[in-house]
Amino acid sequence: SARDGDVVRDAVLAFPELSEVVGSGETKTSFVTREGMQVDVRTVHPDQVGSALLYFTGSKVHNIQLRQRAIDRGWLLSEYGLFEGEKVVASKTEKEIYRDLGLDFIPPPLREGSGEIEAAAEGALPRLIQRKHIRGDLHYHSTRSGDGRSSPEKMVEAAIAAGYEYVAFTEHGEDLAINGSNRREMLSHRNRLRRLGEKYPEVRILFGCELNIGADGELDYDPEFRLEFDYCVASIHSHFDLPPERQTARILRVLEDPAVNAIGHLTGRYLGRRPGVELDVDAVLEGLAITGVALEINGALQRLDASAEVARQAVAQGVDVVIDTDAHHVSDLIRMEYGVTYAQRGWVPRARVLNARPIEKVLEKVAARR
Ligand SMILES: [Zn+2]
Ligand SMILES: [Zn+2]
Repeated sequence: SARDGDVVRDAVLAFPELSEVVGSGETKTSFVTREGMQVDVRTVHPDQVGSALLYFTGSKVHNIQLRQRAIDRGWLLSEYGLFEGEKVVASKTEKEIYRDLGLDFIPPPLREGSGEIEAAAEGALPRLIQRKHIRGDLHYHSTRSGDGRSSPEKMVEAAIAAGYEYVAFTEHGEDLAINGSNRREMLSHRNRLRRLGEKYPEVRILFGCELNIGADGELDYDPEFRLEFDYCVASIHSHFDLPPERQTARILRVLEDPAVNAIGHLTGRYLGRRPGVELDVDAVLEGLAITGVALEINGALQRLDASAEVARQAVAQGVDVVIDTDAHHVSDLIRMEYGVTYAQRGWVPRARVLNARPIEKVLEKVAARR
């Protein structure tokens, strides 16, 4: 907010990601970033920051419902404020606008017009998971995986820098061509992780694996060897074109294996490149609820899988969620922010998130499956 549009325009021109200014007026400056995204910068009066923010944040459905709620009270809601005739009821902050409309503050990720206004009116919004609640990452690769690009040591240091209490290295199982590790490689990797654990006692390092879900739900190694791992996430990396019944069946079969603690990137979708596999979500979530296996929300921007819709349904059915980065490089740790924000869109509360719990609780859950 500012009273002087020139100040804003100068700030835009100094923005390092700026490629080109494509429009400039008194209250609006538009530019394109070097990555090709258009950004509109608006200048509003300081007293109207709340109403402008609310208006431009959307979603459309949410805003329509809010405006209707204002009309029901004989008011009008616009980007300039909440008005009773000429009189401003509220405009400075989003919070006071929600309050005057008889609502708890609704965080932006929930503003989808999918029941959040009713919940806010009843004081029944979820206590959403936040980044600061996250205690560890349970899907993590290093150069031990063929496609990992940072050494285990660098990945441990990154986990410590991220403030984690624990991290599970889940290198690819041997069935993944090229990138997988055989038994001998995994066991020597375990020794390496133990040495790292001695060097970095501030973080608990788990020896894990990302198992590959075969066409009929078969998994890497054998049942005994799989139990050598402290923690396993099982994921689909192949056979994306099987019919839905078989996709569902292969996942349900995997849930029977006591070594499996989470299902990674449920559908295998790659946004903009490949749709996810089709499966019976109800049946899978029921299986997860019964077995106590967690549903992953993968924070990689190309994945964001399971979807927010599935996550919301999972939470409603009592399934635990685990928010992971699937990091293959130290620069991938930022994905935890993305994963958490996306989980918020799925109404995921802190209480349902496996990696928001202390390590003892995580290990208890693993032990309970065995
Ligand atoms: Zn994977
Ligand atoms: Zn992975």
